[in-house]
Amino acid sequence: MTKICGNLIDTIGTNVYNQAIKGCGIMDGKYEILKKHFGYSSFRDGQEELIDALLKKRDVLGIMPTGAGKSLCYQVPAMMLDGITVVVSPLISLMKDQVSALVQQGISAAFINSSLSSAQYGKALQNLRLGVYKIVYVAPERLLTESFLALCSDIDIDLVAIDEAHCVSQWGQDFRPSYLDINKFIDALPRRPVIGAFTATATEVVRDDIVKILRLQDPLAITTGFDRPNLFFSVMKPSDKRKKLLSLLNERRGKSGIIYCSTRKKVEEICEFLNKNKITATRYHAGLTAEERRKNQDDFVYDRAPVIAATNAFGMGIDKSNVNFVIHFNMPKNLESYYQEAGRAGRDGTQADCILLYGKGDVRTAQFFIDNTEPNPNLSDEENRLFKEREEERLKHMTFYSTTTDCLRKYMLRYFGDKYKERCENCSNCLTNFEVADITVEAQKILSCIIRMQQRFGKSMVADVLRGKESDKPYNAWLSDLSTFGIMKDYPLREIRVLIDRLEELGYIKQDGEYPTLRITQKARPVLRGEETVIIKKTKAIKQREDDKRYAVDSALLAELKELRLKLARTRHVPAYVIFTDKTLINLCEVMPETEREFLSVSGVGEQKLKTYGKEFMEIIARYKAEP
Ligand code: ADP
Ligand code: MG
Repeated sequence: MTKICGNLIDTIGTNVYNQAIKGCGIMDGKYEILKKHFGYSSFRDGQEELIDALLKKRDVLGIMPTGAGKSLCYQVPAMMLDGITVVVSPLISLMKDQVSALVQQGISAAFINSSLSSAQYGKALQNLRLGVYKIVYVAPERLLTESFLALCSDIDIDLVAIDEAHCVSQWGQDFRPSYLDINKFIDALPRRPVIGAFTATATEVVRDDIVKILRLQDPLAITTGFDRPNLFFSVMKPSDKRKKLLSLLNERRGKSGIIYCSTRKKVEEICEFLNKNKITATRYHAGLTAEERRKNQDDFVYDRAPVIAATNAFGMGIDKSNVNFVIHFNMPKNLESYYQEAGRAGRDGTQADCILLYGKGDVRTAQFFIDNTEPNPNLSDEENRLFKEREEERLKHMTFYSTTTDCLRKYMLRYFGDKYKERCENCSNCLTNFEVADITVEAQKILSCIIRMQQRFGKSMVADVLRGKESDKPYNAWLSDLSTFGIMKDYPLREIRVLIDRLEELGYIKQDGEYPTLRITQKARPVLRGEETVIIKKTKAIKQREDDKRYAVDSALLAELKELRLKLARTRHVPAYVIFTDKTLINLCEVMPETEREFLSVSGVGEQKLKTYGKEFMEIIARYKAEP
């Protein structure tokens, strides 16, 4: 940590800055900057409009999914404006990585947060006053400190960018009281800079809050499509989640991924379970010491531990671009959280997997969390009631996603307000052939059996009675006399259980009480009266996924390039993806550049990176090409 800071403040000093400054004179437009520093030749959806607005001094609100490229929307203008850009960012780890990445791209930047020693802090302020940095990342807690405020009244701040802007809203998942200081900070500046707010959260209340609380003036609000075509979504309902997890991880050896669990305890269990089974995993949750959290996160980001088991405390601002899969061991409480967490896969645009391991207990756990959320003291009783109601509504959608047989992507994108008509053919449901089955008769048997059992028993007892299995408890002997005893004796027990589950998902049955007992709902009445039929879709066959693009390139060359990248990353104390993303390495394998010009044509290679790394990478490629 200290190393990076040290490097940054001492060595980038004025040299790099002068280079950067020379390179971005008035002659340089946004396209030159995009190519020269970031190594890209075109903007992505929404980026250009947001950049243009900021350059015209119009406030913006950019709502784009994780991985869409929000940072660029303020980094490019930062390079074009005369003054300094202040970026408010919620997480220390995020700042460190973003600043390392900028420095690698030949942009002079620094961060100011509680991880700096007072000497480093003083030095950073001094450099800032001298105009050494173009971009400075600041933790919201630092904004109103006397020394920082005093400095800011002396320097020219042209742009304030607010990353993860949803943190200002109490309605969001990640409310940060210190985000409310941003206004006071802006008010204290001698001149109001242009303001850009960025988030991946699309909820309307949160969006309104951002505009209102940050007092954006007539902002250009752009919401880009939420689709992430490189993500493969799937829902699995394994009878043994751990076994499934292990086989999924074994199929993905050597790749990096996150396993989200609903509780701290589960994180510990899963981490231990994986390590016992020879999968190097680390863990992250809010109950660990700050020191362990930092260490474990670094192990993951720097690829020392390929897998991390974590609660939802992990992730906001994890910019690691080569996360190849995100597995949810438990269903989260709403689709907003799910999409945000799952979206941490495949940031670099390569194919990645988002897998949800669904189990019935997950719904109950999520409901338990909602029921036990402390009321927010800043909201009125009525608002708190409304909040809870919304949470329950959102849980319903999450559950529906987990159980639908329709296209997963379509369901999710529509939930976020995107228009998406077609099936995506790139999710587990689209690749599964379902057959339609009429289960009205079975449903009638199950429902009437539940009634005859006086709605006092749980799932396994109901299944036993249907199957005709005598209870070994004398006080339950009466169950054998019921007319429904053994009416499904021809069905395997497993299938009866599955049918009960499906009836619950479809809302004909509810589980209630401390020892969950099955009860029938209003919806079941017409079925029992023979007025309505019950149709379900059953899995028939699963189509093979299209071959992964990842393997279209020469894997031996790719491995060599990765090795070099790791070596460079270790000596420079930065995460590997800060040197080059996986996507860039893959593109290098495709292009196999021999000249500087060809090297520059690769996506993600700018002038600075060509200068720093071009030679070494091209040497490997040349040697590889020369091999017989
Ligand atoms: P977000 O903050 O929206 O989650 P980031 O700003 O971290 O996303 O960007 C995600 C990845 O996309 C980064 O690796 C970034 O370099 C890359 N990226 C951003 N803009 C472009 C672009 N125009 N062309 C290609 N890649 C881009
Ligand atoms: Mg971001």
